[in-house]
Amino acid sequence: MTDTTPLKPHLAAGPFSDASQLQAAREQAFAQTMDLVFERHPYYRERLAELGLKRSDFASLSDLPRVPLTSKADYMAAPERFVLESQGLPLEMQTVWDTMYTTGSTAGRPTPFVSTSYDFFNTLELQRSMLLLRGVTPQDLIANLFPLTPTPHGAWIRVLHAAASLNIPVVCAMPGNPSPYFGLGNALDEVVALVGRSQATILWGVPSYIQRTLLRAAELGQRWPKVRKVFVTGEALAESARTQMQQALQGVGAASAQISISYGATEMQGGMVECTPGSGLHNPLPAQLLIEVVDPASGQPLPDGQTGAVVLTHLNRRGTVLLRYALGDLSVRSLSPCPACGAVTDRLVQTPSRHDALLKVKGMLVHPQALIDHLDSRLAARPYLLSVQHVQPGQPLSGDRLLLQLEGEGDAATQADLAARIKAACGVTPEVEFVPSAALAPSGAGWKAKKFIDRRGAP
Ligand SMILES: [Zn+2]
Repeated sequence: MTDTTPLKPHLAAGPFSDASQLQAAREQAFAQTMDLVFERHPYYRERLAELGLKRSDFASLSDLPRVPLTSKADYMAAPERFVLESQGLPLEMQTVWDTMYTTGSTAGRPTPFVSTSYDFFNTLELQRSMLLLRGVTPQDLIANLFPLTPTPHGAWIRVLHAAASLNIPVVCAMPGNPSPYFGLGNALDEVVALVGRSQATILWGVPSYIQRTLLRAAELGQRWPKVRKVFVTGEALAESARTQMQQALQGVGAASAQISISYGATEMQGGMVECTPGSGLHNPLPAQLLIEVVDPASGQPLPDGQTGAVVLTHLNRRGTVLLRYALGDLSVRSLSPCPACGAVTDRLVQTPSRHDALLKVKGMLVHPQALIDHLDSRLAARPYLLSVQHVQPGQPLSGDRLLLQLEGEGDAATQADLAARIKAACGVTPEVEFVPSAALAPSGAGWKAKKFIDRRGAP
């Protein structure tokens, strides 16, 4: 029989000031989750049974490492098997409120992440905690600079929900056009005008687009002195890029605005945020989300201070539930109180860097090997090279460019066909370029010809 006793509300929201309180809240949530997993989770119920593990093998959180790591590939292969069987649970735990999609895809198919009403209300708590950690007040007004996308990823719509959770206004600038079937969306100059009119105090979006908006606003002579915070997510932001954005803010009269980084994931329905620049990425709802840093090979937890794979466990969800899910990044965790704000929660104190086979290109997770397999079957032995680079080399905020170079005579039909195939396979449209024969030959003796190169360097 599942225990559905509500978590104590004061323990369910936000970070903690005391490590023993956090531990107690996590133990209560973990016990409920493991009851649900053994009764109702199609994937883990089977996986744990295969390993001979029973509910009684999970007496406390210290037993969590008995669960093997879940990879993105495991989840993508059968996402419906990660949704709890909800019959008989309270209404808010069985009603699907919304489904978001991870951008990752091995075959152009986004992966659904299902939230029940119960999960959605927790997401509101998560979003509110993120805003409070970032120092948002009731006087703030958010300009939402995320685009609408053909599949919901959680970025655009969760900004609205974040504003709702703290009862503050938001203006959606609606950049770009999500679909040729509609007339929605604004060009850059319209977005600039909208932000100017809105008197926004917070700009929220992906860093490359915010940078374009700031540079264009400065060109148009706009002054945005009320902007006091810039929330960035979706792409890595190196320190050099942060400096460039700070200069661009100066160009619109907002030199003192603070850039706040978030490490977000659809699987969190939000992100880990800084309270002040350089303070580390705080888990905003530690009673509900658990972050481990583990040895990527063995899956065993590493002590705080060591670099390893970042792993997420849902402690309090009823739709899609993931245990020990490898987010695909390396970082270092600290559980000591934040020196800046005092919060006791998981903090990633090193900028996460990708270590698995998936890469982010133009905000989409791309699986290079899947593209190579696809191109190999289409092009046979004709040499090609697929690469990712910054639009302006060395300028991370200029955005990404996916380039397919192909040896031999070119024609428009082949160019269009290959661009369409890659777009269908990964969601990103490449530029296709024809180069002379042997131009892509390996440059050193015995080198294997590379078919994919990421030229963007470490974030
Ligand atoms: Zn802090």
